[in-house]
Amino acid sequence: MDIRLEGLTKKFTSKENTETIAVNNLSVTIQSGHLVGLLGPSGCGKSTTLFLLAGLHEPTSGKIFFGSEDVTALPPEKRGIGLVFQNYALYPHMTVYENIAFPLRNSKSFKSAHPDSRQRREAIDEIVLNTARIVAIEQLLMRKPAQLSGGQQQRVAIARAIAKQPKVLLLDEPLSNLDARLRIQTREEIRRIQQKTGITTVFVTHDQEEAMSITDEIIVMKDGLVQQVASPQETYMHPANAFVARFMGNPPINFFDAHISSGYIIINGDRAVEADLPDGEYKVGIRPESFVPVSASGDGTFHVDVAYKATIGRDFQIRFPLNGNDSEALIESDYEVSEGDTVRFSLKRSGVHVFDAKGDRIGQW
Ligand code: ATP
Repeated sequence: MDIRLEGLTKKFTSKENTETIAVNNLSVTIQSGHLVGLLGPSGCGKSTTLFLLAGLHEPTSGKIFFGSEDVTALPPEKRGIGLVFQNYALYPHMTVYENIAFPLRNSKSFKSAHPDSRQRREAIDEIVLNTARIVAIEQLLMRKPAQLSGGQQQRVAIARAIAKQPKVLLLDEPLSNLDARLRIQTREEIRRIQQKTGITTVFVTHDQEEAMSITDEIIVMKDGLVQQVASPQETYMHPANAFVARFMGNPPINFFDAHISSGYIIINGDRAVEADLPDGEYKVGIRPESFVPVSASGDGTFHVDVAYKATIGRDFQIRFPLNGNDSEALIESDYEVSEGDTVRFSLKRSGVHVFDAKGDRIGQW
C-alpha cells in the first residue's frame, strides 16, 4: 500500500496566538513495501507528520492517501495502521501473549470476521504465535513486560502493532529508550521484520546513522519543510543543500567559504580543485574521508598545517584549518604525519560539494 501526501500542512496556534507551522506543504509519495525514515533535528515536524498519518492530528490543509483511498478524514482506528511509540506502552499486568492479543480481541472487524467465539480464540492463537515467531519472542509469551529487557519489550510492542495486519506501520523514535548496543541490534531486527512482513513503514528518528542504516528512503525535514527525499546513499553522496550535507554523516562534513578563480576552487591559497564555475564566493563542503595525501605539489592539490592528530582504529584523524575553519580528515594510518607538519592533499573524485550563498546545491567536483 503506497502512501501519498499532498500539500500536507499542520499549524498550531498557541493561547497567545503565535502560530507554529509544524508541517509546511509536504508532498511526497512513499512506495508500497518501503521502509522510510522521517529524519531531522528536534522540532522539525517529524512526529507531527507521523501523527497526521496516524489520524491523531487533523491537518490544517492537504490530503493523505493510503493507496487510492483518501484517509484524511478517517479516525485512527479506521486507517489500518499499527503504531509503535518510544515508550512501548505495554499493559503491565498482562502477559506478552495477552498484550499482542488485546487489540485483536477488541477489534470489531475481527469479531465480525470470526463470529464464533471458539473459532475466534483459535484465530487469535494462530496470529499471536505467528507474530511472536516473526519478532522472535515465542519463548516469552507467558512473561509480563517487567520480566523483559528493553529490546524484548520493544519487540512485543512491534508484534502488537503488526498482529492486526496493518496496511501501514508507524514507528515514532522506537529505539530511543535502548542502550547503544541494543539500539543497533533492534534496528536491524526492525529491518528484518519489515522486510519479512512487507508492510509499508514510516520510521521517525533524529539519528542520521539510524536512518542511513535501515531505510529505503529518507525524508529529511527542517522547520516543517522537506529538504530532500532520496535513498540514504543519495542524501549522503549528493545532498540537496548545505543543511542535508551537514546533517548526514559522522564525523560531519567540513564546511568553509571559498573563492573560485579562473576555474579553480582556492583552498589555503592553493588552486585546489578544478571547477568550471564563474569566479566568485561559494560555500564548500568536503567529507573527512575525501582527503588523499599526495607528495607532489601543483594545481589540483593544496596544503594544510596539521594542528592535531589521533589514531582511531585503522585511521588517523587529523585536524587543520581550511580557509580558516577548523576541519577534520580521516586518512589511512600507514601515512606518516605529525602535529605541526605541513601536508598536501588532493581530493577524491566528486569530493567537493559546492553550494550557493543560500546553501542550495550547485554541484560536485
Ligand atoms: P522531536 O524530535 O523533538 O520530537 P519533532 O521533529 O518530532 O521533534 P514535532 O513534535 O513534530 O517535532 O514539532 C514540530 C513543531 O510543532 C515544534 O515547534 C513544536 O513545538 C510544535 N508543536 C508540536 N506539537 C504541538 C502542539 N500540540 N501544540 C503546539 N505546538 C506543537
